[in-house]
Amino acid sequence: MRYDVIILGAGPAGLSAAVYARRAGLTVLILDAGAPGGKMNLTAELENWPGDQKVAGPELAYRMYEHAMHFGAEQKYGNVTKIEDGEPKKVTCDDGTVYEGRTIIIATGTKERKMGIPNETEMTGRGVSYCAVCDGPFFRDEPVAVIGGGNSALQEADYLTRFASKVHVIVRRNVFRADKIVADKATDNPKIEVHFLRKPVEVLVEDNKVKGIRIENSETHEQEDLFVNAIFPFIGLDPVTDFAKDLGICNEQGYIVTDENMQTKVPGIYAAGDVRAKFLRQVVTATNDGAIAAQSISHHLNEA
Ligand SMILES: Cc1cc2nc3c(=O)[nH]c(=O)nc-3n(C[C@H](O)[C@H](O)[C@H](O)COP(=O)(O)OP(=O)(O)OC[C@H]3O[C@@H](n4cnc5c(N)ncnc54)[C@H](O)[C@@H]3O)c2cc1C
Repeated sequence: MRYDVIILGAGPAGLSAAVYARRAGLTVLILDAGAPGGKMNLTAELENWPGDQKVAGPELAYRMYEHAMHFGAEQKYGNVTKIEDGEPKKVTCDDGTVYEGRTIIIATGTKERKMGIPNETEMTGRGVSYCAVCDGPFFRDEPVAVIGGGNSALQEADYLTRFASKVHVIVRRNVFRADKIVADKATDNPKIEVHFLRKPVEVLVEDNKVKGIRIENSETHEQEDLFVNAIFPFIGLDPVTDFAKDLGICNEQGYIVTDENMQTKVPGIYAAGDVRAKFLRQVVTATNDGAIAAQSISHHLNEA
């Protein structure tokens, strides 16, 4: 089977692209290496998805997935490891399966940046977690730490106060990098204690579980230990584009460069969502990109 469009990634960008492509009458295959919905599955609550004053991330993920399926998109599990240009274009997954498409939309988003400190890797799943929604409830009435001072860090810190006895927020700079409304909510929360000008230097371990985090004052270099049972780093994201590097469509940071129609410099290969080089990485901008990519493809194929 040769699809009109193969969409890599079933996050909001990929699912939005699927809705638009199917409604334009194109045959669509969506491949995802995880659960449909992408990062929305990791987000406790969104307050900036127009039409919903507040919506749980996994609920919005499910609704978008159902919407795409309703219009007849085909979805398969697939961890994409290679894409090749040509007529047709080829998408290879890690199990060796190869899919053929007339066009491709890359919507594989980003992956969490690691702190890169001792014991982080060993303690992942044993107290170090990159998903507050998934693991926060395990730390009811226990102290936890969030690393980072941006929107995601502060939103997730606020969410964690539902369970944790206390949430320490470790911020490298002396200011937040978050929207004022998000920062105010976090600072007004009596369960949150913010530690500015501190960087994490080591995950402390006892009985093969997290027992705390060592932090360092970035001005005096003094170190102190905070005793927490879980650590949630939200310190940034990197694009998932290894499989596209050979095509020469990524910038120095690995993000994919497109024109305003979401087309890369390789005709027929598009990108949408967080994986793109762009200013604002949010659900609403991901869906925007997906819609434009699908609509551009529809025009491109009709002209062909
Ligand atoms: C903790 C947190 C809180 C956030 N809060 C908000 C918020 O309140 N409001 C908001 O608007 N945004 C928020 N965001 C950002 C938002 O989630 C993203 O901007 C959005 O999900 C990006 O959508 P996307 O479709 O581009 O990528 P993603 O949602 O990242 O989806 C990418 C998909 O691609 C799949 N994939 C990756 N690699 C491969 C591969 N090799 N093969 C196959 N599939 C692959 C992944 O499994 C995933 O399903 C938050 C993000 C985080 C991490």
